[in-house]
Amino acid sequence: MMDKKALVIGSGFAGLSAAIALASKGFETTIVEKNNSIGGRARQFSESGFTFDMGPSWYWMPDVFESFFNRFGKSVSDYYELIRLDPSYQVVYGKGEEMPIPANMGELEALFESIEAGAGLKLREFLKQAAYKYEVGINKLVYKPGRSVTEFASVKLLADVLRMDVFQSMAKHVRKFFKHPKLIELMEFPVLFLGALPENTPALYSLMNYADMSLGTWYPKGGMFKIVEAMAALAESLGVSIHTNCEVLAINTQGGKVTNVQTIKGDFEADVVIAGADYHHVETKLLKPEDRNYSAKYWDSRVMAPSSLLYYVGVKGELDGLLHHNLFFDTDFAPHAKAIYTDPKWPERPLFYASLTSKTDATVAPAGHENLFLLIPTAPGLKDTEEIRSKYFDLIVNRMEDITGNSIKDNIVYQRSFAHSDFVTDYHSFKGNAYGLANTLTQTAILKPALKNKRLNNLFYTGQLTVPGPGVPPSLISGLVVAEEVAKEFK
Ligand SMILES: Cc1cc2nc3c(=O)[nH]c(=O)nc-3n(C[C@H](O)[C@H](O)[C@H](O)COP(=O)(O)OP(=O)(O)OC[C@H]3O[C@@H](n4cnc5c(N)ncnc54)[C@H](O)[C@@H]3O)c2cc1C
Repeated sequence: MMDKKALVIGSGFAGLSAAIALASKGFETTIVEKNNSIGGRARQFSESGFTFDMGPSWYWMPDVFESFFNRFGKSVSDYYELIRLDPSYQVVYGKGEEMPIPANMGELEALFESIEAGAGLKLREFLKQAAYKYEVGINKLVYKPGRSVTEFASVKLLADVLRMDVFQSMAKHVRKFFKHPKLIELMEFPVLFLGALPENTPALYSLMNYADMSLGTWYPKGGMFKIVEAMAALAESLGVSIHTNCEVLAINTQGGKVTNVQTIKGDFEADVVIAGADYHHVETKLLKPEDRNYSAKYWDSRVMAPSSLLYYVGVKGELDGLLHHNLFFDTDFAPHAKAIYTDPKWPERPLFYASLTSKTDATVAPAGHENLFLLIPTAPGLKDTEEIRSKYFDLIVNRMEDITGNSIKDNIVYQRSFAHSDFVTDYHSFKGNAYGLANTLTQTAILKPALKNKRLNNLFYTGQLTVPGPGVPPSLISGLVVAEEVAKEFK
């Protein structure tokens, strides 16, 4: 089988996963990556003694990572140490109103009960249903390539799908169980990862609550980039060659096939090409118009997941009252949600998220310092300027100072921001999206951008804009799914 060559564009989780799977199937595999580091949106940087993961920070669904490495005869523990966080995270509703979410189920039920009578048992029932959705969703549905409805044609699977609340919204589903606004907000928060409002997200995705509350929040010691390093080590052990600083400029084609891929370091030839860079970029910048799957009109009509305004901040001294993960829900989400999803603009009083991996890991900040990662979800396609970045920094840091009583601004020793224009420059992201394409009902499974080019026999796509969707575990799965399809056609 070593006679077949595969070329993967992009070294995000999806590209790395596809490359590993293809190499294990005997393809001679090469990755070309535009940036000077691998990992895509999950890159990491170190500065002034601080180490920051640039994108993902929540390690959910540990079973997906374990089963990924198991496929190749490895285990997560061969590469990195996983720590289960307890509390998993905290929600901050205001000064003195922190709600730590315990890892232990009994304690979590007691917490729900203390907020709303009867909610403890309702949580148990909610998570029982969510466990079923997780089992079917993560073990069966997400591995479907989404190329035809017939994939879902087995009677058992159809029955499963019907039981999975595909046609009910997450917002309705949650309200059937809980009344208290704090509990509603807590149960709706995980679907925000999927890029759409709970009103527009199928209740199938309560499987995310199972991931959150039952499977737990974990942390790879050293940071999320440990996953990238682990995948690179596995890829290299299987013979994958990885070229960084190797931006693809064009995918050249002839007679319904890719002939070669032109990069800034020269041309690469391959029997099959898997594009793991943002789908929209591949289509509109790398392919000739006649080779594209979709029109500009199609892309304009897609619901993109949010972008985000990010800050990486090194702070001298210990920050009290903060945990590894902190959700600042100290303001009404409705106007912020409107500014993200229905009337795209900079929000007035945004919710935000703060992560301090230094609370768990002494290796990521100098002794006596904290590394603070701040994230404001925003609408894609907004124009970000230095004034805007500095305005929002002041706004959320002032709020954090008021609520936690810490003095942050006076103790900053390192600071960097990252927003829409950086997503575009660094990842060629469509409208500066952070998490790809939203998981709405009309953008699920076969309704997602297809994983194969319709005109070119040897061009496939992977990553968070195609099946199964955004997030680290889905991106890993996306790479596996596309590799299966490639192997079926090219073996
Ligand atoms: C701020 C942020 C927070 C997040 N938080 C979480 C979280 O907590 N948990 C979670 O599970 N998920 C999270 N996500 C989502 C998760 O990080 C993504 O879904 C996942 O990393 C996407 O992987 P990918 O391989 O599809 O894309 P990418 O990581 O973007 O990889 C695509 C790669 O292609 C490269 N590329 C682009 N154009 C070219 C070209 N012309 N030539 C060569 N290479 C090119 C890019 O440089 C990039 O390396 C977060 C994302 C962001 C941005």
